[in-house]
Amino acid sequence: MQNSSSDATALPARPGARVRIDLPALAANYRTLVAAAGGAETAAAVKGDAYGIGIEPATRTLAKAGCRTFFVALPKEGALVRAVAPEATVYVLSGLAPGAAPSLAAAGLRPVLGSMAEIEEWAAWKKAGGEGRAALHVDTGMNRLGLTLAEAAAGSAAVDDLAPALGMSHLACADTPAHPLNAAQAERFAAAAALFPGRPASLANSAGIQLGAAFRFDLVRPGIALYGGRFGPGPALATVATVTAPIVQVREIPEGETIGYGAAETLRRPTRAAILSIGYADGYPRAAGGADGRPGAFAFVDGHRVPLIGRVSMDLLAIDVTDVPSARRGVEVELFGPNIAVDAVAEAAGTIGYELLTRLGARLERVHAGGG
Ligand SMILES: *Cc1c(COP(=O)(O)O)cnc(C)c1O
Repeated sequence: MQNSSSDATALPARPGARVRIDLPALAANYRTLVAAAGGAETAAAVKGDAYGIGIEPATRTLAKAGCRTFFVALPKEGALVRAVAPEATVYVLSGLAPGAAPSLAAAGLRPVLGSMAEIEEWAAWKKAGGEGRAALHVDTGMNRLGLTLAEAAAGSAAVDDLAPALGMSHLACADTPAHPLNAAQAERFAAAAALFPGRPASLANSAGIQLGAAFRFDLVRPGIALYGGRFGPGPALATVATVTAPIVQVREIPEGETIGYGAAETLRRPTRAAILSIGYADGYPRAAGGADGRPGAFAFVDGHRVPLIGRVSMDLLAIDVTDVPSARRGVEVELFGPNIAVDAVAEAAGTIGYELLTRLGARLERVHAGGG
């Protein structure tokens, strides 16, 4: 090497995997949910880097589509939202960390207060002259965050003082419409909402919107539905994230041989295998691979659904393209998107679409279609 320039841009484009993010589809999903929300304000959950699709472009797109209220998990996520949507109302679901009131308020973020300790700290800070708004979280059956109903009732003077900008609770089983906990939570939440009369109330996540008017209250907080994930029966939503990877090579493998680590899958016929440049280091779940006696997920190539064969490696995986003669080196294969539901891949891996989206790897090239 004569000139040891370390300019990585001079390298040939990595024959790598990418995630294409369709921002107009995100805006369309937002509008679909507004229509489904029956008059309730439609906010957006953009935590977890907007479920892997990119918190800044997602926020920008949603704000342009009319979204005024955003929910994040962490203050740092809230700051990113605030930077691209200066007019928005931003709630921090993880609540109030000790000593965090001044910095949250200074950043224009609203904590969702979920314990008496948080309420007392916020109230003391306000009494000492602090200015800011907060939401109040009442637990109705999740047993994760939120005041118990008894605490909320006993502390209703403190709650009154707090003048919450929003009262909220969270459904545990919204994606199982027949679960009896749904109706119980709606009933408990209606009782809790009576503790802060005249203040907006919010119970429903994506799946909760589908449970009926009794679940929608004043504001709904969808996340996964915006990003095209499964959220129960209801309107069809557009695919937002499509993950593809190119074929690195195609090989003919004799019947009876095995493929991949652990020799976990034995080929039952002479097989044309396509090796793709994507693996678990890119966020594709290792558990979605195939093995003898346990089929894996499917991929989509040139109009065909084809199965994964063998274990998923860190950087590579194999699919069976015996019946797809057009599959050859350089051809792009869909791992999930419009033809392979993210939830189907998740199910093959024993998890949910939420986890796949939020784990999309940093190594994936991200392509945002439609501005943002
Ligand atoms: C993540 C989250 C949501 C959004 O849930 P989805 O199932 O993705 O619609 C709403 N509310 C709270 C409290 C959350 O943590």
